[in-house]
Order: sequence, then structure tokens, then C-alpha cells
Amino acid sequence: MKQLLLASNNRGKLAELQQMFEPLGVQLISQAELNIPEAEEPFHTFIENALAKARHASRLSGLPALADDAGLCVDAFGGEPGVQTAYYATRFGYPKGDDNNVRALLEQMADVTQRRAALVSTLVALRHPDDPEPLVAVGRVSGEITREPRGTNGFGFDPVMFIPSFGKTFAELPVEVKNANSHRGQAARQMLALMQERWFA
Ligand code: IMP
Repeated sequence: MKQLLLASNNRGKLAELQQMFEPLGVQLISQAELNIPEAEEPFHTFIENALAKARHASRLSGLPALADDAGLCVDAFGGEPGVQTAYYATRFGYPKGDDNNVRALLEQMADVTQRRAALVSTLVALRHPDDPEPLVAVGRVSGEITREPRGTNGFGFDPVMFIPSFGKTFAELPVEVKNANSHRGQAARQMLALMQERWFA
């Protein structure tokens, strides 16, 4: 069984990805299991932060590593909050958290008519810390930010992320439908195919 370090301490992500990578004979290990501290994420783009996280985890573990960086990019804000998505609410004096993020976003967009936004997920995998050819997979779902939250499934911005092709927000869709169509699902499927072709063929 090949081992791959996941540069994240998020149990939900680990479980989801573990299931997806099983057919490749790959065992995903969380960096927390090896007491590897989280990496700094000082950059302005998802790809730079995901690469930094994967390098850090691979260097400290001696294993190949997989990292992800994700967030919401609002057209009217030039793609912001982007890499700062998780902390968006704190810019406006609210404590960090999903509900406050949604509240802050709706307030900031109160007078904005162009409401297009994308959820983006970037995955990077490295065979070793100095791998000159990282595998990169990007998943992206474009939608419209609603005027008020709708639906109770999912997390984060799901209640305000209206997906025109479904006529519903992500939070109004069954979880398996969201996951099959989400930015994260797209990126993970691409990464699986890349690994199959480049690393394990
Ligand atoms: P993370 O790095 O994947 O944990 O996500 C960064 C930020 O984007 C957090 O504020 C999440 O709530 C938000 N986010 C990530 N994925 C989703 C999603 O699938 N739906 C809604 N919000 C998301």
C-alpha cells in the first residue's frame, strides 16, 4: 500500500479523499497523525498556498503529499475574498465562522447587482518536497450569490450559492448531488486521473 500525506487536519476532507484514493491502492495519512504543524499560507493565490502546504508536509514527513486550498471568488470584488475566504467575516468585525461569513457577504453585496461568484478548489500533489512537476487539479463551480440564505444542507457559503443549472442553492441540493458537482469533487476526480496516468501507470 502506497502512502500519501494529506496536508490538512480536516477529518471530513480526509474521509472523503480516503474513499476516492482507495482504488489506487493509496493510503492517505493526515499530517496531524505525524504531529506535523500546519504550514504558513502567506500567498495571494490558491495554487501558491496549496503548493506551500504540500511542500511543507512532504519535507517534514518524507512522504509524497497532497494539499488543497479553496475559497469563494466574487466577480464584483475582483475575485476576493479568495484565499482569505475562511476569515472574511473578521474583516468586518465579526468573529470567524460560516454564518458570519454569509452575513458579511450579503451586507457587502447589498448594493451589488452583478452577483456572479465561483467556489474554487485547488489540489496540488508532490512526489517529494522539491518535485519540479507538481500535479495540479482545479475545480470550479460558478453561481449567483442570492439575496438571502436558502436551504439547510452543506456548509460555508452553500445557502447563498445559487447554481443556475439546478435552479437551487447548494444548500437546497441533496449532499450527494452537491458533492458530485462541487468544485472539490471536480478537483479530486481530476487529481485521481492525473495520479493514475503519471504516478501509478
Ligand atoms: P476550506 O479551505 O476548504 O476549508 O474552505 C475555505 C473557505 O471556503 C471556508 O470559509 C469554507 O466555508 C468555504 N468553502 C469551501 N468549500 C465550500 C463549499 O463547498 N461550499 C461553501 N463554502 C465552501
